[in-house]
Amino acid sequence: MAEVFIGGAYRKFPRAERLPIRNPANGEPVDTVPRVGAAEVDLAVRSAADAFPAWRDTPAGRRGEILMTAAGAVRHELTELAALLTSEQGKPLREARLEISRFVHTLEHYAGLAKNLRGGYVPNLDEGAYGMILKMPLGVVGAIVPWNFPTTLLGNKLGPALVAGNTLVAKPAETTPLTTLRIAGLMHEAGLPAGAFNVITGAGSIAGRALVEHPLVRKVGFTGSTPVGKSIMTMAAADLKRVTLELGGSDPLIVCDDADLDGAASAASVGRFFNCGQACLAVKRLYLFRGIADAFVDRLVAKVARLKVGPGTMDGITLGPLHTAQGREEIEAQVADAVAAGAKVLAGGRRPTGDLYNRGHFYEPTLLLEPRRDSQVATDEVFGPVLPIWRVDDLHEAIRLANSSIFGLGSSIWTRDLDRASYAAERLEAGYTWINSPQKIYDELPFGGVKQSGQGKEHGIEALDYYMETKSVVIKRSS
Ligand code: NDP
Repeated sequence: MAEVFIGGAYRKFPRAERLPIRNPANGEPVDTVPRVGAAEVDLAVRSAADAFPAWRDTPAGRRGEILMTAAGAVRHELTELAALLTSEQGKPLREARLEISRFVHTLEHYAGLAKNLRGGYVPNLDEGAYGMILKMPLGVVGAIVPWNFPTTLLGNKLGPALVAGNTLVAKPAETTPLTTLRIAGLMHEAGLPAGAFNVITGAGSIAGRALVEHPLVRKVGFTGSTPVGKSIMTMAAADLKRVTLELGGSDPLIVCDDADLDGAASAASVGRFFNCGQACLAVKRLYLFRGIADAFVDRLVAKVARLKVGPGTMDGITLGPLHTAQGREEIEAQVADAVAAGAKVLAGGRRPTGDLYNRGHFYEPTLLLEPRRDSQVATDEVFGPVLPIWRVDDLHEAIRLANSSIFGLGSSIWTRDLDRASYAAERLEAGYTWINSPQKIYDELPFGGVKQSGQGKEHGIEALDYYMETKSVVIKRSS
Protein backbone atom coordinates (compact mmCIF):
# COMPACT_ATOMS: atom_id res chain seq x y z
CA MET A 1 0.00 0.00 0.00
CA ALA A 2 1.43 3.37 -1.01
CA GLU A 3 1.28 6.26 1.46
CA VAL A 4 1.53 10.04 1.20
CA PHE A 5 4.96 11.59 1.61
CA ILE A 6 5.19 14.36 4.22
CA GLY A 7 8.21 15.76 6.03
CA GLY A 8 10.68 13.33 4.47
CA ALA A 9 8.75 10.12 5.27
CA TYR A 10 5.77 8.06 4.13
CA ARG A 11 2.93 8.80 6.55
CA LYS A 12 0.00 6.49 7.27
CA PHE A 13 -3.50 7.86 7.79
CA PRO A 14 -5.38 4.71 8.78
CA ARG A 15 -8.76 6.42 8.85
CA ALA A 16 -8.50 7.77 5.30
CA GLU A 17 -10.53 6.10 2.55
CA ARG A 18 -8.29 4.05 0.18
CA LEU A 19 -8.29 4.84 -3.50
CA PRO A 20 -7.52 1.94 -5.87
CA ILE A 21 -5.05 2.57 -8.71
CA ARG A 22 -5.81 0.38 -11.73
CA ASN A 23 -3.81 -0.63 -14.77
CA PRO A 24 -5.48 0.96 -17.84
CA ALA A 25 -4.36 -1.95 -20.06
CA ASN A 26 -6.30 -4.62 -18.14
CA GLY A 27 -8.22 -2.99 -15.29
CA GLU A 28 -6.25 -4.91 -12.66
CA PRO A 29 -5.45 -3.25 -9.33
CA VAL A 30 -1.88 -1.98 -9.04
CA ASP A 31 -1.95 -0.47 -5.54
CA THR A 32 -4.00 1.82 -3.32
CA VAL A 33 -3.35 5.29 -1.89
CA PRO A 34 -5.21 7.31 0.75
CA ARG A 35 -7.75 9.87 -0.38
CA VAL A 36 -6.70 12.67 1.96
CA GLY A 37 -8.62 15.74 3.05
CA ALA A 38 -7.89 19.26 4.22
CA ALA A 39 -6.32 18.17 7.56
CA GLU A 40 -3.62 16.06 5.86
CA VAL A 41 -3.02 18.74 3.25
CA ASP A 42 -2.50 21.18 6.12
CA LEU A 43 0.15 18.85 7.62
CA ALA A 44 1.97 18.68 4.30
CA VAL A 45 1.90 22.44 3.78
CA ARG A 46 3.09 23.08 7.34
CA SER A 47 5.90 20.63 6.86
CA ALA A 48 6.94 22.50 3.71
CA ALA A 49 6.65 25.81 5.57
CA ASP A 50 8.85 24.49 8.41
CA ALA A 51 11.48 23.34 5.93
CA PHE A 52 11.45 26.60 4.00
CA PRO A 53 13.76 28.87 6.09
CA ALA A 54 16.66 26.39 6.14
CA TRP A 55 16.27 25.55 2.44
CA ARG A 56 16.06 29.24 1.53
CA ASP A 57 19.23 29.92 3.52
CA THR A 58 21.15 27.03 1.97
CA PRO A 59 23.58 28.56 -0.56
CA ALA A 60 22.11 28.30 -4.05
CA GLY A 61 25.11 26.35 -5.32
CA ARG A 62 24.60 23.80 -2.56
CA ARG A 63 20.90 23.54 -3.38
CA GLY A 64 21.92 22.80 -6.95
CA GLU A 65 24.32 20.06 -5.81
CA ILE A 66 21.64 18.44 -3.64
CA LEU A 67 19.12 18.55 -6.48
CA MET A 68 21.68 17.10 -8.90
CA THR A 69 22.36 14.18 -6.54
CA ALA A 70 18.64 13.60 -5.99
CA ALA A 71 18.05 13.57 -9.75
CA GLY A 72 20.83 10.99 -10.10
CA ALA A 73 19.08 8.76 -7.58
CA VAL A 74 15.95 8.84 -9.74
CA ARG A 75 17.94 7.96 -12.86
CA HIS A 76 19.47 5.02 -11.01
CA GLU A 77 15.99 3.51 -10.61
CA LEU A 78 14.86 4.28 -14.16
CA THR A 79 13.84 0.72 -15.02
CA GLU A 80 11.75 0.23 -11.89
CA LEU A 81 10.14 3.67 -12.17
CA ALA A 82 9.30 3.21 -15.86
CA ALA A 83 7.55 -0.08 -15.11
CA LEU A 84 5.57 1.56 -12.30
CA LEU A 85 4.61 4.46 -14.57
CA THR A 86 3.42 2.09 -17.31
CA SER A 87 1.37 0.11 -14.80
CA GLU A 88 -0.54 3.15 -13.52
CA GLN A 89 -0.64 5.29 -16.68
CA GLY A 90 -0.74 2.77 -19.52
CA LYS A 91 1.92 4.23 -21.84
CA PRO A 92 4.39 1.92 -23.60
CA LEU A 93 7.49 1.10 -21.54
CA ARG A 94 9.70 2.86 -24.08
CA GLU A 95 7.72 6.10 -23.59
CA ALA A 96 7.73 5.63 -19.81
CA ARG A 97 11.54 5.39 -19.86
CA LEU A 98 11.67 8.52 -21.99
CA GLU A 99 9.39 10.32 -19.58
CA ILE A 100 11.46 9.47 -16.49
CA SER A 101 14.63 10.48 -18.36
CA ARG A 102 13.04 13.82 -19.26
CA PHE A 103 12.11 14.35 -15.60
CA VAL A 104 15.71 13.76 -14.53
CA HIS A 105 17.02 15.94 -17.34
CA THR A 106 14.81 18.85 -16.28
CA LEU A 107 15.91 18.59 -12.64
CA GLU A 108 19.55 18.52 -13.76
CA HIS A 109 18.96 21.50 -16.02
CA TYR A 110 17.71 23.61 -13.10
CA ALA A 111 20.33 22.22 -10.70
CA GLY A 112 22.92 23.46 -13.21
CA LEU A 113 21.42 26.95 -13.18
CA ALA A 114 21.67 27.28 -9.39
CA LYS A 115 24.82 29.37 -9.45
CA ASN A 116 23.32 31.75 -11.98
CA LEU A 117 20.56 33.05 -9.73
CA ARG A 118 21.17 36.75 -9.38
CA GLY A 119 19.55 40.09 -8.81
CA GLY A 120 20.65 43.57 -9.86
CA TYR A 121 22.44 46.76 -8.91
CA VAL A 122 21.44 50.29 -10.01
CA PRO A 123 23.99 53.04 -9.23
CA ASN A 124 23.33 56.74 -8.59
CA LEU A 125 19.60 56.70 -7.98
CA ASP A 126 20.08 59.96 -6.17
CA GLU A 127 23.09 61.58 -4.70
CA GLY A 128 24.72 58.94 -2.51
CA ALA A 129 21.93 56.42 -3.14
CA TYR A 130 21.97 53.21 -5.07
CA GLY A 131 19.48 50.41 -5.61
CA MET A 132 19.62 46.65 -5.35
CA ILE A 133 17.17 44.26 -6.92
CA LEU A 134 16.76 41.14 -4.80
CA LYS A 135 15.42 37.88 -6.16
CA MET A 136 13.94 35.81 -3.36
CA PRO A 137 12.04 32.56 -3.13
CA LEU A 138 8.30 32.75 -2.52
CA GLY A 139 7.91 30.14 0.23
CA VAL A 140 5.62 27.13 -0.10
CA VAL A 141 4.58 26.27 -3.63
CA GLY A 142 1.73 23.93 -4.61
CA ALA A 143 2.12 21.79 -7.76
CA ILE A 144 -0.99 20.19 -9.31
CA VAL A 145 -0.24 17.71 -12.07
CA PRO A 146 -2.40 15.67 -14.51
CA TRP A 147 -2.19 12.00 -15.42
CA ASN A 148 -0.83 12.15 -18.97
CA PHE A 149 2.80 12.95 -18.06
CA PRO A 150 2.76 12.61 -14.27
CA THR A 151 6.51 13.00 -13.78
CA THR A 152 7.76 15.38 -16.47
CA LEU A 153 5.00 17.87 -15.68
CA LEU A 154 6.01 17.62 -12.03
CA GLY A 155 9.68 18.18 -12.93
CA ASN A 156 8.80 21.42 -14.72
CA LYS A 157 7.63 22.78 -11.38
CA LEU A 158 9.89 20.97 -8.93
CA GLY A 159 13.18 21.92 -10.64
CA PRO A 160 12.79 25.70 -10.74
CA ALA A 161 10.87 25.83 -7.43
CA LEU A 162 13.53 23.97 -5.42
CA VAL A 163 16.56 25.57 -7.00
CA ALA A 164 15.10 29.03 -6.36
CA GLY A 165 14.81 28.10 -2.66
CA ASN A 166 11.10 27.27 -2.33
CA THR A 167 9.62 24.15 -0.79
CA LEU A 168 6.84 22.27 -2.51
CA VAL A 169 3.70 20.18 -1.99
CA ALA A 170 2.65 18.16 -5.04
CA LYS A 171 -0.83 16.78 -5.79
CA PRO A 172 -0.62 14.23 -8.61
CA ALA A 173 -3.77 13.17 -10.48
CA GLU A 174 -6.01 10.73 -8.60
CA THR A 175 -5.18 7.94 -11.05
CA THR A 176 -1.37 8.40 -11.28
CA PRO A 177 0.18 9.08 -7.87
CA LEU A 178 2.47 6.04 -7.52
CA THR A 179 5.57 7.04 -9.50
CA THR A 180 5.57 10.50 -7.91
CA LEU A 181 5.39 9.00 -4.40
CA ARG A 182 8.29 6.66 -5.14
CA ILE A 183 10.36 9.50 -6.62
CA ALA A 184 9.81 11.66 -3.53
CA GLY A 185 11.23 8.88 -1.33
CA LEU A 186 14.24 8.38 -3.59
CA MET A 187 15.06 12.07 -3.72
CA HIS A 188 14.96 12.41 0.07
CA GLU A 189 17.06 9.28 0.61
CA ALA A 190 19.59 10.98 -1.68
CA GLY A 191 19.81 14.08 0.48
CA LEU A 192 16.87 16.40 -0.18
CA PRO A 193 15.97 17.78 3.26
CA ALA A 194 12.78 16.62 4.98
CA GLY A 195 9.82 18.80 4.03
CA ALA A 196 11.36 20.23 0.86
CA PHE A 197 9.17 18.08 -1.40
CA ASN A 198 5.91 16.57 -0.11
CA VAL A 199 3.29 14.56 -1.98
CA ILE A 200 -0.39 14.28 -1.08
CA THR A 201 -2.89 12.02 -2.81
CA GLY A 202 -6.62 12.20 -3.39
CA ALA A 203 -9.27 14.04 -5.35
CA GLY A 204 -8.54 17.31 -7.07
CA SER A 205 -11.83 18.76 -5.86
CA ILE A 206 -10.88 18.03 -2.21
CA ALA A 207 -7.11 17.70 -1.70
CA GLY A 208 -6.24 19.87 -4.72
CA ARG A 209 -8.65 22.55 -3.65
CA ALA A 210 -7.38 22.49 -0.04
CA LEU A 211 -3.84 22.95 -1.36
CA VAL A 212 -4.76 25.92 -3.55
CA GLU A 213 -6.75 27.56 -0.77
CA HIS A 214 -4.20 26.97 2.01
CA PRO A 215 -3.11 30.36 3.39
CA LEU A 216 0.57 29.34 3.59
CA VAL A 217 0.76 28.43 -0.12
CA ARG A 218 2.14 31.39 -2.02
CA LYS A 219 1.98 30.09 -5.56
CA VAL A 220 0.33 27.28 -7.52
CA GLY A 221 1.90 25.69 -10.55
CA PHE A 222 -0.94 23.92 -12.37
CA THR A 223 -1.05 21.73 -15.46
CA GLY A 224 -4.41 20.41 -16.56
CA SER A 225 -7.55 21.23 -18.45
CA THR A 226 -8.65 24.75 -19.27
CA PRO A 227 -11.89 24.62 -17.19
CA VAL A 228 -10.05 23.44 -14.05
CA GLY A 229 -7.29 26.00 -14.72
CA LYS A 230 -9.90 28.75 -14.66
CA SER A 231 -11.25 27.55 -11.33
CA ILE A 232 -7.71 27.40 -9.88
CA MET A 233 -7.20 30.99 -10.94
CA THR A 234 -10.48 32.00 -9.31
CA MET A 235 -9.56 30.23 -6.05
CA ALA A 236 -6.07 31.74 -6.06
CA ALA A 237 -7.51 35.20 -6.63
CA ALA A 238 -9.06 35.16 -3.14
CA ASP A 239 -5.59 35.61 -1.60
CA LEU A 240 -3.91 37.02 -4.73
CA LYS A 241 -1.68 33.96 -4.99
CA ARG A 242 0.47 33.59 -8.00
CA VAL A 243 -0.44 30.96 -10.58
CA THR A 244 1.26 29.39 -13.55
CA LEU A 245 -1.31 27.65 -15.74
CA GLU A 246 -0.35 25.16 -18.44
CA LEU A 247 -3.69 24.20 -19.99
CA GLY A 248 -5.27 22.56 -23.01
CA GLY A 249 -4.28 22.96 -26.63
CA SER A 250 -5.31 22.22 -30.21
CA ASP A 251 -2.05 22.65 -32.10
CA PRO A 252 -2.24 23.20 -35.87
CA LEU A 253 0.36 21.81 -38.28
CA ILE A 254 0.54 23.44 -41.71
CA VAL A 255 2.16 21.64 -44.65
CA CYS A 256 2.98 23.95 -47.59
CA ASP A 257 3.38 22.80 -51.18
CA ASP A 258 7.20 23.08 -51.02
CA ALA A 259 7.59 21.03 -47.84
CA ASP A 260 9.65 17.92 -47.12
CA LEU A 261 6.61 15.64 -47.13
CA ASP A 262 8.33 12.67 -45.51
CA GLY A 263 9.61 14.80 -42.63
CA ALA A 264 6.23 16.49 -42.20
CA ALA A 265 4.33 13.17 -42.25
CA SER A 266 6.64 11.81 -39.60
CA ALA A 267 6.18 14.95 -37.43
CA ALA A 268 2.40 14.69 -37.81
CA SER A 269 2.34 11.01 -36.88
CA VAL A 270 4.64 11.29 -33.85
CA GLY A 271 3.12 14.62 -32.87
CA ARG A 272 -0.39 13.17 -32.84
CA PHE A 273 0.02 9.58 -31.67
CA PHE A 274 2.77 9.84 -29.01
CA ASN A 275 1.32 8.99 -25.58
CA CYS A 276 -1.79 7.72 -27.42
CA GLY A 277 -2.60 11.32 -28.34
CA GLN A 278 -3.04 12.29 -24.69
CA ALA A 279 -0.77 15.30 -24.68
CA CYS A 280 -1.44 18.98 -24.28
CA LEU A 281 1.21 19.73 -26.84
CA ALA A 282 0.25 17.55 -29.79
CA VAL A 283 -0.58 17.96 -33.45
CA LYS A 284 -4.37 18.14 -33.23
CA ARG A 285 -5.30 19.82 -36.55
CA LEU A 286 -3.63 19.33 -39.90
CA TYR A 287 -3.84 21.91 -42.74
CA LEU A 288 -2.49 20.76 -46.11
CA PHE A 289 -1.88 22.88 -49.19
CA ARG A 290 -4.20 21.48 -51.83
CA GLY A 291 -1.43 20.64 -54.32
CA ILE A 292 0.37 18.19 -52.01
CA ALA A 293 -2.64 16.96 -50.02
CA ASP A 294 -3.05 13.58 -51.72
CA ALA A 295 0.67 12.79 -51.71
CA PHE A 296 0.93 13.76 -48.05
CA VAL A 297 -2.14 11.80 -46.99
CA ASP A 298 -0.78 8.67 -48.73
CA ARG A 299 2.41 8.94 -46.69
CA LEU A 300 0.56 9.55 -43.44
CA VAL A 301 -1.88 6.68 -43.96
CA ALA A 302 1.08 4.35 -44.60
CA LYS A 303 2.78 5.51 -41.40
CA VAL A 304 -0.33 5.11 -39.31
CA ALA A 305 -0.83 1.58 -40.64
CA ARG A 306 2.54 0.67 -39.08
CA LEU A 307 1.59 1.84 -35.55
CA LYS A 308 0.98 -1.00 -33.13
CA VAL A 309 -1.74 -0.79 -30.50
CA GLY A 310 -1.51 -2.89 -27.35
CA PRO A 311 -0.52 -3.13 -23.67
CA GLY A 312 2.44 -0.88 -22.89
CA THR A 313 4.45 -3.79 -21.51
CA MET A 314 4.50 -5.69 -24.84
CA ASP A 315 7.46 -5.36 -27.21
CA GLY A 316 7.04 -3.09 -30.22
CA ILE A 317 3.88 -1.34 -29.02
CA THR A 318 3.59 2.30 -30.10
CA LEU A 319 0.12 3.10 -28.74
CA GLY A 320 -1.00 1.98 -25.32
CA PRO A 321 -4.60 2.21 -24.12
CA LEU A 322 -6.35 5.47 -23.38
CA HIS A 323 -5.94 6.22 -19.72
CA THR A 324 -9.63 5.96 -18.77
CA ALA A 325 -12.88 4.54 -20.13
CA GLN A 326 -14.33 8.05 -20.04
CA GLY A 327 -11.44 9.36 -22.13
CA ARG A 328 -12.17 6.77 -24.80
CA GLU A 329 -15.88 7.57 -24.77
CA GLU A 330 -15.10 11.26 -25.31
CA ILE A 331 -12.93 10.39 -28.30
CA GLU A 332 -15.62 8.13 -29.73
CA ALA A 333 -18.21 10.90 -29.39
CA GLN A 334 -15.90 13.37 -31.15
CA VAL A 335 -15.26 10.93 -34.02
CA ALA A 336 -19.00 10.26 -34.37
CA ASP A 337 -19.64 14.00 -34.48
CA ALA A 338 -16.95 14.44 -37.17
CA VAL A 339 -18.35 11.62 -39.31
CA ALA A 340 -21.83 13.11 -38.98
CA ALA A 341 -20.21 16.38 -40.07
CA GLY A 342 -19.00 14.82 -43.32
CA ALA A 343 -15.56 13.45 -42.39
CA LYS A 344 -14.16 10.53 -44.36
CA VAL A 345 -12.40 7.99 -42.10
CA LEU A 346 -8.98 7.31 -43.69
CA ALA A 347 -7.73 5.08 -40.86
CA GLY A 348 -9.01 3.69 -37.57
CA GLY A 349 -12.23 5.16 -36.23
CA ARG A 350 -12.97 2.21 -33.95
CA ARG A 351 -11.80 0.04 -31.05
CA PRO A 352 -9.41 -2.75 -32.02
CA THR A 353 -10.89 -6.21 -31.60
CA GLY A 354 -9.41 -9.41 -30.16
CA ASP A 355 -8.56 -10.89 -26.77
CA LEU A 356 -5.62 -8.56 -26.28
CA TYR A 357 -7.90 -5.54 -26.25
CA ASN A 358 -10.93 -6.68 -24.28
CA ARG A 359 -9.95 -5.37 -20.87
CA GLY A 360 -8.25 -2.03 -21.71
CA HIS A 361 -9.41 1.26 -23.17
CA PHE A 362 -7.79 0.79 -26.57
CA TYR A 363 -8.62 2.84 -29.68
CA GLU A 364 -7.15 2.67 -33.17
CA PRO A 365 -5.09 5.60 -34.48
CA THR A 366 -7.57 7.55 -36.56
CA LEU A 367 -7.34 9.96 -39.50
CA LEU A 368 -10.39 12.02 -40.51
CA LEU A 369 -10.51 13.91 -43.81
CA GLU A 370 -12.45 17.17 -44.08
CA PRO A 371 -14.92 17.18 -41.19
CA ARG A 372 -16.97 20.37 -41.20
CA ARG A 373 -14.95 23.25 -39.87
CA ASP A 374 -17.30 23.78 -36.96
CA SER A 375 -17.27 20.13 -35.83
CA GLN A 376 -15.97 19.22 -32.38
CA VAL A 377 -12.60 17.98 -33.65
CA ALA A 378 -12.01 21.46 -35.07
CA THR A 379 -13.21 23.51 -32.10
CA ASP A 380 -12.53 21.36 -29.00
CA GLU A 381 -9.41 19.72 -27.66
CA VAL A 382 -9.09 16.11 -28.90
CA PHE A 383 -7.27 14.20 -26.17
CA GLY A 384 -6.66 10.90 -27.93
CA PRO A 385 -5.33 9.31 -31.15
CA VAL A 386 -7.49 11.18 -33.67
CA LEU A 387 -6.23 13.61 -36.30
CA PRO A 388 -8.56 15.73 -38.45
CA ILE A 389 -7.20 16.91 -41.82
CA TRP A 390 -8.26 19.85 -43.98
CA ARG A 391 -7.06 21.12 -47.37
CA VAL A 392 -6.31 24.84 -47.75
CA ASP A 393 -5.70 27.14 -50.71
CA ASP A 394 -2.79 29.18 -49.36
CA LEU A 395 -0.85 30.28 -46.31
CA HIS A 396 -3.32 33.02 -45.42
CA GLU A 397 -6.19 30.57 -45.22
CA ALA A 398 -4.03 28.11 -43.27
CA ILE A 399 -3.04 30.71 -40.68
CA ARG A 400 -6.57 32.07 -40.39
CA LEU A 401 -7.89 28.57 -39.67
CA ALA A 402 -4.96 27.73 -37.39
CA ASN A 403 -5.73 30.80 -35.30
CA SER A 404 -9.49 30.18 -35.22
CA SER A 405 -9.24 28.39 -31.89
CA ILE A 406 -9.63 29.39 -28.28
CA PHE A 407 -6.31 27.61 -27.68
CA GLY A 408 -2.77 28.77 -28.42
CA LEU A 409 -0.25 26.26 -27.12
CA GLY A 410 1.94 24.91 -29.96
CA SER A 411 1.95 25.25 -33.75
CA SER A 412 4.04 23.97 -36.67
CA ILE A 413 4.76 24.79 -40.27
CA TRP A 414 6.62 22.80 -42.90
CA THR A 415 8.01 24.82 -45.81
CA ARG A 416 11.37 25.43 -47.50
CA ASP A 417 10.51 29.10 -48.06
CA LEU A 418 12.08 31.38 -45.45
CA ASP A 419 9.54 34.13 -46.07
CA ARG A 420 6.61 31.80 -45.49
CA ALA A 421 8.24 30.35 -42.38
CA SER A 422 9.00 33.69 -40.76
CA TYR A 423 5.58 35.10 -41.72
CA ALA A 424 3.95 32.12 -40.00
CA ALA A 425 6.22 32.32 -36.94
CA GLU A 426 5.15 35.92 -36.40
CA ARG A 427 1.43 35.34 -36.97
CA LEU A 428 0.59 31.95 -35.48
CA GLU A 429 -1.08 32.61 -32.12
CA ALA A 430 0.78 30.11 -29.97
CA GLY A 431 3.46 29.91 -27.32
CA TYR A 432 5.71 27.79 -29.57
CA THR A 433 6.18 27.44 -33.34
CA TRP A 434 8.21 24.61 -34.84
CA ILE A 435 9.49 25.15 -38.38
CA ASN A 436 10.42 21.96 -40.24
CA SER A 437 10.89 20.28 -36.89
CA PRO A 438 8.96 17.71 -34.92
CA GLN A 439 7.20 19.15 -31.88
CA LYS A 440 9.68 18.69 -29.11
CA ILE A 441 10.10 20.58 -25.86
CA TYR A 442 13.52 21.86 -24.83
CA ASP A 443 14.46 22.75 -21.27
CA GLU A 444 16.42 25.66 -22.72
CA LEU A 445 13.36 27.40 -24.22
CA PRO A 446 10.42 28.92 -22.32
CA PHE A 447 7.15 27.06 -22.84
CA GLY A 448 3.62 28.18 -22.15
CA GLY A 449 0.38 28.88 -23.97
CA VAL A 450 -1.37 32.02 -25.09
CA LYS A 451 -5.15 32.62 -25.22
CA GLN A 452 -6.96 29.89 -23.22
CA SER A 453 -3.91 27.59 -23.21
CA GLY A 454 -2.45 29.19 -20.16
CA GLN A 455 -0.55 31.86 -18.32
CA GLY A 456 3.11 32.04 -17.44
CA LYS A 457 6.07 29.97 -18.59
CA GLU A 458 7.74 26.73 -17.66
CA HIS A 459 11.18 25.64 -18.90
CA GLY A 460 13.97 28.04 -19.81
CA ILE A 461 15.70 30.43 -17.42
CA GLU A 462 12.37 32.26 -17.58
CA ALA A 463 10.66 29.63 -15.39
CA LEU A 464 12.80 30.70 -12.43
CA ASP A 465 11.13 34.12 -12.42
CA TYR A 466 7.81 32.44 -11.75
CA TYR A 467 9.22 31.00 -8.50
CA MET A 468 10.88 34.17 -7.20
CA GLU A 469 9.80 37.47 -5.76
CA THR A 470 11.51 40.61 -7.02
CA LYS A 471 12.24 43.16 -4.34
CA SER A 472 13.87 46.59 -4.59
CA VAL A 473 16.20 47.95 -1.94
CA VAL A 474 17.43 51.55 -1.78
CA ILE A 475 20.65 52.25 0.11
CA LYS A 476 21.66 55.81 0.92
CA ARG A 477 25.08 56.68 2.19
CA SER A 478 25.33 59.24 4.98
CA SER A 479 28.33 60.95 3.42
P1 NDP B 1 -7.75 18.14 -15.02
O1 NDP B 1 -7.74 19.62 -15.13
O2 NDP B 1 -9.03 17.45 -14.84
O3 NDP B 1 -6.81 17.67 -13.81
C1 NDP B 1 -5.51 18.16 -13.66
C2 NDP B 1 -5.14 18.13 -12.18
O4 NDP B 1 -5.97 19.05 -11.48
C3 NDP B 1 -5.34 16.77 -11.52
O5 NDP B 1 -4.31 16.56 -10.57
C4 NDP B 1 -6.67 16.96 -10.84
O6 NDP B 1 -6.83 16.10 -9.75
C5 NDP B 1 -6.58 18.39 -10.38
N1 NDP B 1 -7.87 19.02 -10.09
C6 NDP B 1 -9.07 18.74 -10.66
N2 NDP B 1 -10.04 19.53 -10.12
C7 NDP B 1 -9.43 20.34 -9.21
C8 NDP B 1 -9.87 21.37 -8.33
N3 NDP B 1 -11.14 21.77 -8.29
N4 NDP B 1 -8.97 21.98 -7.52
C9 NDP B 1 -7.67 21.62 -7.57
N5 NDP B 1 -7.18 20.64 -8.36
C10 NDP B 1 -8.03 20.01 -9.20
O7 NDP B 1 -6.98 17.69 -16.32
P2 NDP B 1 -6.81 16.22 -16.89
O8 NDP B 1 -6.39 15.32 -15.80
O9 NDP B 1 -8.02 15.91 -17.66
O10 NDP B 1 -5.54 16.44 -17.85
C11 NDP B 1 -5.65 16.65 -19.18
C12 NDP B 1 -5.64 18.13 -19.51
O11 NDP B 1 -4.40 18.69 -19.17
C13 NDP B 1 -5.80 18.41 -21.00
O12 NDP B 1 -6.68 19.48 -21.22
C14 NDP B 1 -4.40 18.80 -21.44
O13 NDP B 1 -4.34 19.58 -22.59
C15 NDP B 1 -3.89 19.48 -20.23
N6 NDP B 1 -2.45 19.44 -20.23
C16 NDP B 1 -1.77 20.63 -20.41
C17 NDP B 1 -0.39 20.64 -20.51
C18 NDP B 1 0.37 21.92 -20.70
O14 NDP B 1 1.55 21.95 -20.38
N7 NDP B 1 -0.24 22.98 -21.20
C19 NDP B 1 0.38 19.39 -20.43
C20 NDP B 1 -0.42 18.22 -20.23
C21 NDP B 1 -1.79 18.27 -20.12
P3 NDP B 1 -7.65 14.71 -9.89
O15 NDP B 1 -7.23 14.07 -11.14
O16 NDP B 1 -7.21 14.00 -8.69
O17 NDP B 1 -9.08 15.09 -9.86
